[in-house]
Amino acid sequence: MALSKLDRLYRAVILDHSSNPHHRGVLEGVTPLELNNPTCGDVIRLSIRLDKDKKIEDIAFDGSGCSISTASASMMTDLVLGKTIEEACELSEIFSQLVQGEDIGEMDEKLGDAAFLQGVSQFPQRIKCATLSWNALKKLMDVEVGESVVEESCSHFENDGEKE
Ligand SMILES: [Zn+2]
Repeated sequence: MALSKLDRLYRAVILDHSSNPHHRGVLEGVTPLELNNPTCGDVIRLSIRLDKDKKIEDIAFDGSGCSISTASASMMTDLVLGKTIEEACELSEIFSQLVQGEDIGEMDEKLGDAAFLQGVSQFPQRIKCATLSWNALKKLMDVEVGESVVEESCSHFENDGEKE
């Protein structure tokens, strides 16, 4: 079956990010967090720097991974740069719903290029490739500001958690 034009566009955007990833590298003076996805063999090392208002002032990643994990990390870094922890949590939650095939309506507009990874939902074994960098981001925010702060910031966006 031939790929539709839309599929081709999606593939082109993903390929572009995976072959020329944005924010590739390690930030000087910060300890990167390493996370791997054993199912596929992807490894990511992510570093972030927060400013005094706890906004993500700088972000970089390296490591080795498949094209989905690399493209997703590149898209994620584009997206969360300059965002607060709360905003990053919201994006992470929307993205997680998207790749799990949930209907997120027009919220995909918030995801920028990352919305192009929607097709991953049809390949359950690749979902972890797509969410690896987001999981690394969340763990890194835990380290930077403390787990309780991140949990508090993220609690507004989780559908499956208990609401107060
Ligand atoms: Zn992978």
